[in-house]
Amino acid sequence: MMNKKGILIVFSGPSGCGKGTVLKELIDKDDNVFLSVSATTRSPREGEINGKNYYFLTKEEFEQQISNDGMLEYAKYCENFYGTPKAPVLERLEKGQNVILEIEVQGAMKVKEKQKDAVLVFLMPPSMEELERRLVDRQTEDIETITKRLNTAKEEIAHKDEYDYTIVNNTVSDAVADLEAIIRAERNRNR
Ligand code: 5GP
Repeated sequence: MMNKKGILIVFSGPSGCGKGTVLKELIDKDDNVFLSVSATTRSPREGEINGKNYYFLTKEEFEQQISNDGMLEYAKYCENFYGTPKAPVLERLEKGQNVILEIEVQGAMKVKEKQKDAVLVFLMPPSMEELERRLVDRQTEDIETITKRLNTAKEEIAHKDEYDYTIVNNTVSDAVADLEAIIRAERNRNR
């Protein structure tokens, strides 16, 4: 039987909706799912490690990657650039491994155009009030950045119908179970 290619999962949702927590739990449970490490021009938050959370690049380095055709997609989000290094993703898919891109909406739409088989999943916060509370509680951004992120969140939610699936993050364990169910079903899809 021919070796089946891995599934490319695009996972989006407004900043603070719990994407990171859901993905961490999924990856701990499923050892054939890999999270792509993005490149960004934003500064590292406390505790973030270069090469693990992100590749932290200067604007010049980021532009160089784009001109070398090294990005599967990239987007500007709240004044910074974010992008997916192409080669590691394509290599894993070829090996039959499933890859998750945790990226914002503009990037997700570019992936949808380029990779027709990609499965797009949108994670919704339980409510806007809850989203605001989470962004304030995590204390990683100042109030101006939080306001910007909340406005961006509303714009992002307006795009959720362009995704294949929407999961509401009422509890982390339910959201992880939903995502696992999606991956399991997609593995068996006739493509
Ligand atoms: P944060 O600054 O909170 O780490 O990320 C901000 C936003 O950028 C999040 O919505 C995150 O999903 C998105 N993001 C992270 N990496 C990438 C990427 O490689 N490409 C795109 N388009 N968005 C990304």
